[in-house]
Amino acid sequence: MDDCIFCKIVKGEVPSFKVYEDDRVYAFADINPISEGHTLIIPKAHAENLGEISDEDLVAIHRVSKKMYHAMQKTLGAGGIALVQANGRAVNQVVMHYHLHLIPRKDSQPRLAATQWDLVPGDMDTIKAVSAKIAAALGH
Ligand code: AMP
Ligand code: ZN
Repeated sequence: MDDCIFCKIVKGEVPSFKVYEDDRVYAFADINPISEGHTLIIPKAHAENLGEISDEDLVAIHRVSKKMYHAMQKTLGAGGIALVQANGRAVNQVVMHYHLHLIPRKDSQPRLAATQWDLVPGDMDTIKAVSAKIAAALGH
């Protein structure tokens, strides 16, 4: 896509701090890191979100995320690594080219808001009804 910043990064038209590349996948440092080592993994082929990305690219990205997990643990001494991936503006997707955030955190750092919420028991009838709706859409 001509006006997509991440497509431009893949083509080398916008600079990036490359961490990894293969025929399907490109990974680079997030320039607004929320912790040291914050990295983005993207497909080279433009796809806006999880609904659009090919299965092959999705698998390739997650294989790379595992390599990256080990590399980050080895080099950064991360106490935990969050994988965050937003689809749509309602969940704050800002760049509309699929990207998987890898966010390493040290034990000494405050917990990431995205991975911490209060456990408030839901209404079981509602949970059951909504789960059944999703299951039906999946054909189960
Ligand atoms: P989001 O769409 O909310 O999942 O996040 C988009 C992410 O892309 C943000 O964390 C930005 O800091 C990051 N970002 C945007 N432009 C660039 C760029 N040119 N190089 C590296 N990271 C970027
Ligand atoms: Zn793109």
